[in-house]
Parts: sequence; C-alpha cells; structure tokens
Amino acid sequence: MPGYADMNALGAGQPLPAFYWTGDTEMACLRDALGQTLRLGYAHHIQRLMVTGLFALMLGVRPREVHEWYLAVYVDAVEWVELPNTLGMSQHGDGGLMASKPYIATGKYIQRMSNYCAGCRFDPAEATGPKACPFTTLYWDFLLQHEPMLRKNQRMAMQVRNLARLDTARREAIQAQAAQIRQQLASGKATRESNQ
Ligand code: SF4
Repeated sequence: MPGYADMNALGAGQPLPAFYWTGDTEMACLRDALGQTLRLGYAHHIQRLMVTGLFALMLGVRPREVHEWYLAVYVDAVEWVELPNTLGMSQHGDGGLMASKPYIATGKYIQRMSNYCAGCRFDPAEATGPKACPFTTLYWDFLLQHEPMLRKNQRMAMQVRNLARLDTARREAIQAQAAQIRQQLASGKATRESNQ
C-alpha cells in the first residue's frame, strides 16, 4: 500500500531509545528481549509484540523508526510481512487497518506472562515514584493522551472506563512521570535510569 510505511495515526514523535541497539537498560524485560534479539536476531512473538513493540508504542516512538529497527534486527524479517505486523498490529500507526485496537498493557501483564519482573528493580504495580514500572506509567499516560479516540472503540471500553478511577492529582503525577521518561530517553543519556 503506497505510503503505508509513513503512516502515523497516533501522531507519535519520540525517537527510538538508544538502548534498542545495545540492550543497556535496567528494565529487565527489555534488557532480556533486546539482548537476545541483538545476539541471535530472534525473539518470539510475545517478546516482539508485548515487550519491545509495546514499550515503543506507549512511549510514542515514530512508527517508521520502529519498523526500520525490526527490519534491521530480526533474521526472519521480510518487509511485506514485517511492515504491517510492526506498523499496523504493534504500533497502531495505520489507525486500525491491521488491528481493531492498540495492544497496550501495564507491567502487570508482563509480570503475569513471564518471570522478568522478579529480577527487576521496578515494581509493575506502581505507576509513579522511583520504583514505578515504566510500562505501567506509560500505559496510563497512553490512555490519557488518546482518550477521545479510544472512547470511540468498543474494544477499549473497559480500559477507558478504568481511567475514571484516576483523580486529577493522580493523572498529573502520571503525566509528569511519563514526560520525564520521554525526556530522559530522547536525550539518550538515561539508557539505564529510565525514570529516576
Ligand atoms: S517491572 Fe516493568 S520494566 Fe521491570 S521487568 Fe516487569 S514489566 Fe519490565
């Protein structure tokens, strides 16, 4: 589809974090998935969709950069399959042509699906504060940022409804922490201290 690689329905403008090329991060799930990817050129579907892809989506990385990274690092990546899977299904850059909703989740999902969190200095149950899991912070921030669009999607109804539980102070704290994560990662200096 002409122009598909440049689609960016969510208006994502963040650069791909430098640690995607090194695996040098304190986030245990990303460190493992990225380290394995860079070593072997392979990661399984859930690592691709729900660890590396999930973090890039919720951080707000430009979908084209995510697509180019997947194409470069995975030995089984061929563009006609990889592009719609990455830009469409994983990053929702096509606005829903490939997938009927953005696949977002907190660190609690990763905790349920893996043993990563047991060896991580972050707490998947926390969205703010020094031990907050960046996935959990960015999950709530993603819902806050895109609430008007997500409200129109029946498949996101429960997640959007949960936002009502957050009062203004809580929303502002999450947004401030998410902004700090983005600023630190964009500066390239915080490849390890992602939310300190
Ligand atoms: S606590 Fe968060 S960053 Fe750490 S392994 Fe779990 S999901 Fe990943």
